[in-house]
Amino acid sequence: MVTVNHNYLRLPGSYLFSTIGKKVRAYKELNPDKEVISLGIGDVTQPLVPAIIEALHNAVEEMAHAETFHGYAPDLGYEFLRNAIAKNDYQDRGCDIKADEIFVSDGAKSDSGNIQEIFGTDNKVAVCDPVYPVYVDTNVMAGRTGEYNTARENFDGVIYMPCSKENGFLPELPKEVPDLIYLCFPNNPTGSAITRDELQKWVDYANKNGCVIIYDAAYEAYISQDNVPHSIYECEGARTCAIELRSFSKNAGFTGVRLGFTVIPDELVRDGVSLHSLWARRHGTKFNGAPYIVQKAGEAVYSEAGKAQLKEQVGYYMRNAKLIHDELEKAGFSVSGGVNAPYIWLETPDKMTSWQFFDYLLKEANVVGTPGSGFGAHGEGFFRLTAFGTYENTRKAIDRIKSL
Ligand SMILES: *Cc1c(COP(=O)(O)O)cnc(C)c1O
Repeated sequence: MVTVNHNYLRLPGSYLFSTIGKKVRAYKELNPDKEVISLGIGDVTQPLVPAIIEALHNAVEEMAHAETFHGYAPDLGYEFLRNAIAKNDYQDRGCDIKADEIFVSDGAKSDSGNIQEIFGTDNKVAVCDPVYPVYVDTNVMAGRTGEYNTARENFDGVIYMPCSKENGFLPELPKEVPDLIYLCFPNNPTGSAITRDELQKWVDYANKNGCVIIYDAAYEAYISQDNVPHSIYECEGARTCAIELRSFSKNAGFTGVRLGFTVIPDELVRDGVSLHSLWARRHGTKFNGAPYIVQKAGEAVYSEAGKAQLKEQVGYYMRNAKLIHDELEKAGFSVSGGVNAPYIWLETPDKMTSWQFFDYLLKEANVVGTPGSGFGAHGEGFFRLTAFGTYENTRKAIDRIKSL
């Protein structure tokens, strides 16, 4: 008799974005004359920059000729890309990371979801609350948690680290020592960033207690402050306790192109086993390489032209972020984020719940955002606005919110 993976049945339906879509469609049907602007979008909107398009065209042309055609890519990624990553993202920043410690993949969502596979199911997991849902859900699927607790609105057997206004939306070192600690900085959804000194405390804690930190740095390109680390390997001792995940989605607009990578240093050993060798085994068995064409596009991200063009693109989004943050603050809202991340985290006014504020904003300002409660119990009473729209629409949306 076939049975299913019952761990999946513990997952409550994720209705966040479908509920948002339904509410917006219903409103538009009743109010066809109203122009609804979305600041809820978690996807980039600007086109790929010219340096990347040129690399894509050239790579496509190579695929058209037997002499330059490329078949299966190496499991762990092409040398040209891993060398460019090691030099630009790590060595130039003073981080001791070698090309062969980098695993090229199709993105940080898959890596952040798959990485738990190399750990035992008896490991205890710690996550921030609110949180990017992938970290929790993939551990639920693997059977590393208990049941969903409807009263607490989270899972038994998981250590939740509240990120609230009181602690500046930064988690505190957990009292109960976890095995795996997921951290994401700059953070989605709160837009908060961690300083190098604060992150060092996590690295020291992990080394002292034998934990592994899974560090999601997907928003690294948005960092504007000098004391905010671009990589966890800027911290001393991170090579013996941290795995880092990176993506080309938010820094270079690859959400539809697909490319990312994971870094696992050689020294990272747990249970007497090298995690690098386990992930290499997993990657080689279950992944057949990111496309050659896409890896060539990734290489162009590190060219002089690519860097300059992407700096401008990220700057475009961050101009939106600053506008949202500064204008809403002036209007009396309690806002955070938006300085090192494309997300603004807003406290709902008048003690409204996240969903009440969603409905209010949709109806009164025709602006769509994302209810903070959709990211975890401690997101209740908060609201996420994103900087990924056009400047014109962002300006218009903010003017409408201000005039409420
Ligand atoms: C967008 C995002 C990613 C990137 O995912 P890709 O699969 O590379 O597109 C990873 N982590 C977080 C927290 C994100 O918001």
